[in-house]
Amino acid sequence: MSDRIWYRYGTALAAAALVLMLRAALDRFFEDRTFTIIYVPVVLFAAFAGGRGPALLATVLCLGISAKSLGKSLVTDPANLIDIACFAILGPILGFMGDRLLRESKQARDRQAHLQSILDTVPDAMIVIDDRGIVRSFSAAAERLFGWSPAEIVGRNVSSLMPQPYRGEHDRYLERYLTTGERRIIGIGRIVVGERSDGSTFPMELAVGEAKAPGDRFFTGFVRDLTERRAQERRLQELQSELVHVSRLTAMGEMASSIAHEINQPLSAVTNYIRGATTLMAAETLDTARMRDALDRAAQQALRAGDIIKRLREFVAKGETEHSLESPVTLLEEAVALALLGAKEQGVRVAIRSDRDMPSIIVDKIQIQQVVLNLVRNAIEAMATSARRELTVGVTKTGDEAIFTIADTGPGISSGITDRLFQPFVTTKEHGMGVGLSICRTIIEAHGGRIDALPNPGGGTVFQFTLPFAEAGEET
Ligand code: ADP
Repeated sequence: MSDRIWYRYGTALAAAALVLMLRAALDRFFEDRTFTIIYVPVVLFAAFAGGRGPALLATVLCLGISAKSLGKSLVTDPANLIDIACFAILGPILGFMGDRLLRESKQARDRQAHLQSILDTVPDAMIVIDDRGIVRSFSAAAERLFGWSPAEIVGRNVSSLMPQPYRGEHDRYLERYLTTGERRIIGIGRIVVGERSDGSTFPMELAVGEAKAPGDRFFTGFVRDLTERRAQERRLQELQSELVHVSRLTAMGEMASSIAHEINQPLSAVTNYIRGATTLMAAETLDTARMRDALDRAAQQALRAGDIIKRLREFVAKGETEHSLESPVTLLEEAVALALLGAKEQGVRVAIRSDRDMPSIIVDKIQIQQVVLNLVRNAIEAMATSARRELTVGVTKTGDEAIFTIADTGPGISSGITDRLFQPFVTTKEHGMGVGLSICRTIIEAHGGRIDALPNPGGGTVFQFTLPFAEAGEET
């Protein structure tokens, strides 16, 4: 502490000594003039280095130097008197200004140290950006999570931490929020996909808060890596998804036995009528009226069989479903983020390309997420042995439907099963059950959509399914 006092007052003394030498060297030019302007830098220096006390000391010393070098003419010449009086007032003012500046810069340093200690210890990754999307600070947990050091990322656009298409669109989002106040993530929180410095992607939970300072706006994002949640939690989720899978399988088994039972009757009737028609054809004279009657009845029975299937399907689809109004883009993003849990180890690159501003769809969210989950898992499994592992998902608007796409760079569908792909129990996997895709089709068709698989032009498979948009009246 006393060292500091010596330093503060010492600098004022040294500066005054310097100006004394300068004054002595230039003495002959000054004649009888005070010329206090040459002392102002001394007082300024003392004020900003040491504050009020040293500034006052420097003022007194400079007045002393002036008095010593001018002698009597200091008080006899009114110009000198005015000059010296002004300087005597200016000195303390500069001292107080210096004091305030020093206090504020100390407070700023303290605040910075405080913030840094938070940034170093907060368990979630924390990223602060300004209103242009430029990263201002990056916590230690964010460094571990994204693989960027603060020195590399601070000053760059935060979009570097996102995969496409968010990377290209983030500035526009921010601009829209600043001009219209429309919130997509700020203050709400979402599950989104992040990108590490090595280009790999991962699902994360993002919450963003906003801070306004005069003339400035900051956004603070808290990121939680969903792949790093406790193993127990992941296992629980796997068990849950297996359970859903099994429950659907059971429902399907029940449906299959009811269909078999109900449909047996019209099918045997169809067989009997056709047999009758064949017998009629063998007769010498062809009784066309009776034959037409038999075939008509066979057709009716076949339609009845079709009706039964339709009814059963509707029954199963209605089951315990709960429909709600959902945004196709959000629904897909969340489902993909969940499906990616556990895919981290497989080094799959994920790109999400969706149209923005799409109408809503009315769906059973869990069921549609189950479809996306199945398709994404199949895609990841298909790419297990591929050199290129790129998963591209997205949803686009076409007419009155949303088209969801899940494309992989795997080996493509085996030629032997292309025609039967969506039928139950069709599988090429050693431990596969072959029910995933048939469940997907049941769910999508129950929602009034279609599902298809196409070859990916660059190699691999593209699964596409459609869902109709909600009518304007349904949205309210
Ligand atoms: P499972 O995965 O239990 O075999 P699925 O009904 O989900 O049942 O899939 C049926 C079959 O379709 C799989 O065994 C596989 O041969 C094929 N398949 C599904 N998705 C893909 C894909 N993305 N790429 C290549 N083949 C696929």
